Amino acid sequence: MQHIIDRFISYVIIDTESDASSPTTPSTPKQWDLANKLVEELKSIGMQDVTIDDKAYIMATLPSNVSHHVPTIGFISHFDTSPDFSGANVKPQIIPNYDGKDIVLNAEKNIILSPSYFKDLLQYKGQTLITTDGTTLLGADDKAGITEIVSAMEFLIQNPDIKHGTIKVGFTPDEEIGRGAHHFDVEKFGADWAYTMDGSQVGELEYENFNAAGAKITFKGKSVHPGYAKGKMINSMLIANDFINQLPKGETPEETKGYEGFFHVHHLNGTIEETVLELIIRDHNKKKFEKRKELIEKIARKINKKFAKQFGEDIVIAEIADQYYNMKEKVLPVKYIVDIAEKAMKELKIKPLIKPIRGGTDGSQLSYKGLPCPNIFAGGHNFHGKYEYVPAESMQKAVDVIVKIAELTAKL
Ligand SMILES: [Zn+2]
Repeated sequence: MQHIIDRFISYVIIDTESDASSPTTPSTPKQWDLANKLVEELKSIGMQDVTIDDKAYIMATLPSNVSHHVPTIGFISHFDTSPDFSGANVKPQIIPNYDGKDIVLNAEKNIILSPSYFKDLLQYKGQTLITTDGTTLLGADDKAGITEIVSAMEFLIQNPDIKHGTIKVGFTPDEEIGRGAHHFDVEKFGADWAYTMDGSQVGELEYENFNAAGAKITFKGKSVHPGYAKGKMINSMLIANDFINQLPKGETPEETKGYEGFFHVHHLNGTIEETVLELIIRDHNKKKFEKRKELIEKIARKINKKFAKQFGEDIVIAEIADQYYNMKEKVLPVKYIVDIAEKAMKELKIKPLIKPIRGGTDGSQLSYKGLPCPNIFAGGHNFHGKYEYVPAESMQKAVDVIVKIAELTAKL
């Protein structure tokens, strides 16, 4: 297991924070530092056709070692880290044989990783935890996934008695800013299906995510001297307020869970003359998702009607754009790809945790680009912040799952 720990640490000490405000791919040049290293490493463990394109997308092949036809499967993860928290100068700490008590991440700043707040820690008593020093994120999201895929490929290469078909490996930049799948060449990748290794705790297996849209709603107004405004002034901020009040009560992120969808108002900026409201719409169910978008249009129409005479033109303009869709629609017709992963976990005595993602993954975009792509645990917890940690044992389990999936696929 030391080998996995060393590999993981060699990745997390390289800063690969992505940047949503950058128009380039990768969004930050420093992502090349790890990308180039990964290319060399894939070559050195014996992977074939290792390529990196001008946008830092890495692909590699492990050729089949059986003579019969086996579907080509892929494993994908991302090497950037979230811009939500610093990824520079990561100093990982290794806690062997975790005793179930508080972990002092940083004595000077009194930053404690405690099972009183993070109860998940207790399931890892006796294991080797890798944490931060309290000043950065760790980057287990998703360098744990990369560690696991590289280690699984290395294991298969060193153990040719394990029979498998062709396996493709894909590493992407910029997943954390929602662009990981944008330039992913599904055709070049050439897999029948793939798995992102980008989930959290051991056992996670996900093939349902939100349908997602964003709406920008612009409210117009009319500014008049407040002392003489009766019947003349139209305050766009108050119209926006009226709009928000017409959204269904209780359907917000803070009041929903599981399969419950929501409207999330995340930006509001206004003057008398113009107010811009931005919100996102989320629902696992396609029909309900469409209904939610219709409701936005309906409220806008209602307000427009009310002000038609006084304002002369539409006072509310609603622009709605779809962002991504539930991969379930693309995965259900090939549900056996989830069943294989589930079977692999069960054979390894790992309890599968199948639940809907309340968000999206690169896998959802890839599924709609023609590469069905469920998500599997990578083992880390508390992503995107200083409390992020990963048990080395969980990474080893993910390696075992990858190897087992390869084995089971060869027996299809
Ligand atoms: Zn991730």
